[in-house]
Amino acid sequence: MTTATSKETLGFQTEAKQLLQLMIHSLYSNKEIFLRELISNASDAADKLRFEALADGTLYENDPELKITITFDQEAKTLSISDNGIGMSKDDVISHLGTIAKSGTAEFLGRLSGDEKKDSQLIGQFGVGFYSAFIVADRVEVLTRRAGLEPSEGIHWESEGEAEFSVESIEKADRGTTVILHLREDSADFADNWRIRSVVKKYSDHIAIPVLMEKQATPDYDDEGKEKPVEENTTPEFEAVNDATALWTRSRSEVTDEEYIEFYKHVSHDFEDPLSWTHNKVEGKLEYNSLLYVPKKAPFDMWNREASRGLKLYVQRTFIMDDAEQFLPLYLRFIKGVIDSNDLSLNVSREILQQDPAVDSMKSAVTKRVLDTLSKIAKNDSEKYQLFWDQFGQVLKEGPAEDFSNKEKIAKLLRFASTHTNSDVQSNSLEDYVGRMKEGQDKIYYVAAENFTTGSNSPHLEVFRKKDIEVLVFYDRIDEWLMGHMMDFDGKQFQDVGKGELNLGDLEGEDDKKEKEKLETENKDLIERVKKVLGEKIDSVRVTNRLTDSPACLVVGEDDMGAQMRRIMEQAGQAMPESKPILELNPEHSLVKKLDQESDEDRFADLVDILFDQSTLAEGGQLDDPAAYVHRLNKLILDLSK
Ligand code: ADP
Ligand code: MG
Repeated sequence: MTTATSKETLGFQTEAKQLLQLMIHSLYSNKEIFLRELISNASDAADKLRFEALADGTLYENDPELKITITFDQEAKTLSISDNGIGMSKDDVISHLGTIAKSGTAEFLGRLSGDEKKDSQLIGQFGVGFYSAFIVADRVEVLTRRAGLEPSEGIHWESEGEAEFSVESIEKADRGTTVILHLREDSADFADNWRIRSVVKKYSDHIAIPVLMEKQATPDYDDEGKEKPVEENTTPEFEAVNDATALWTRSRSEVTDEEYIEFYKHVSHDFEDPLSWTHNKVEGKLEYNSLLYVPKKAPFDMWNREASRGLKLYVQRTFIMDDAEQFLPLYLRFIKGVIDSNDLSLNVSREILQQDPAVDSMKSAVTKRVLDTLSKIAKNDSEKYQLFWDQFGQVLKEGPAEDFSNKEKIAKLLRFASTHTNSDVQSNSLEDYVGRMKEGQDKIYYVAAENFTTGSNSPHLEVFRKKDIEVLVFYDRIDEWLMGHMMDFDGKQFQDVGKGELNLGDLEGEDDKKEKEKLETENKDLIERVKKVLGEKIDSVRVTNRLTDSPACLVVGEDDMGAQMRRIMEQAGQAMPESKPILELNPEHSLVKKLDQESDEDRFADLVDILFDQSTLAEGGQLDDPAAYVHRLNKLILDLSK
């Protein structure tokens, strides 16, 4: 079998080694999934061959019937999965089976806790793949040859799943890949006809090419009812054990939930069940099938810009490409699935896709489909929707900026934390909020802060609490940016409670307004004195009607950037135009009354500085000179105790 080329032993990439060990230890309770993974790879290999053969028919090497064949040997305790797909060259084998090319792998492994139970959940999120063979095998051989290469360029790969693997050149007449598993003692039961058939049925029925197994000889009986001996030396007959039609081409009523779920795992390389899916056949000007899935968990690399995303594109059942990102907007990058077009040309490329107007129409139809699916979940099953939102809400928040035409639809899908539910769970829709608005309220109020606690305890909310007006609490970094693109919802404008003069419109009674005017005139002198002390630090000083418990607070001008947004930008190293806050005083507060009576100008100045710094702290800001603040406060405490 071997040629002159000698055997080489190579070490697994560190990450591959770690992953391998983790996999073997953590997936023990669900061993049988190895078969799903190997069949999935064989099917991918067939897809790739069919695609490459579009340009070069000789790759079929006179063997165009693509198939997967499973054989086993009970005595030797082996199980083999063969395909006549694209196969692998030596370089392919070394890089695909010796390293893990997924971006973010090192980061992923860094998150492992060492707690096997937790880690085994993570591994599912990562996707298990080829290495799952080692769950049931203590030795794995791969015999492969890439389509189009010479028979002498076959490769024999072998490993015991420890630190290293070997590669060796072999003669391989037929293209494609055979994976031979030498089963572990405790997994030897997989070398069994019925066991394999049931696992294939369960996980791989949807595979679009036949998965073949040897036909079971049905026992023949003689006249006396005794089993006739099976004839030796007959060539075995093979039969397909799966359905072998592309699942997305079947009609919805014919496909079971289990089949949809297993197909999802195949296309997404996800280990978990999907949260939901939508399967549609579109006929008319454009003809295509789409099968779109909403995953249950965000992938570990959702925030990685290079991460794979989008759908698998097929043209008339022929696989064309993974990650066909042209069919979905970026804010729906978590959607997985298949789109199969009848209109596109078989030799379509990414470049062509970018310019094809048919692709744009498909993109907008697919986008609507996804948004409708999400709306339906939101409407019918709020618990399920909450699961979705907690995983993907932050990505969906990119929507209104990216997709103006669907702004309204996306707005209804958004969820926020609120003083109404008083928890950091983002569970309130804008429709809920509007439904709870007080009579005379014409704005949707929000506060933005680093976290829920800071936001909901902000002094800016005091009057809202007093008047029982709901305020949304934003603490995701993207929220204020999102507001910049939303403007309004259902005709109601969004209003940052920390911005501009508080104008509660009709919510304010005549008495409130008169009272405020009165306070303004009464405190004219005080305001002037405070202004003098703070000088350049502030834009202005005024009395406020937004506070009940706090003596003072800071607000920004109506057209200025919100304080939280400014902090985020500054942290990111952005140079911000100078903007000064407005100090608002609560003249009803005894501290402010005391301040007004303070005749010692030094003490007055200290008190004002303290009030100013406290206002900064209360809304989650940082002091320019914390030591000076502490110093002043201590002086004050000592004065008090004199
Ligand atoms: P994934 O399928 O998610 O890419 P796997 O660990 O399952 O990850 O497989 C790793 C790679 O090994 C595949 O991407 C493919 O390039 C290669 N591979 C595995 N099995 C086969 C096969 N039967 N034929 C050709 N290539 C294969
Ligand atoms: Mg795979």
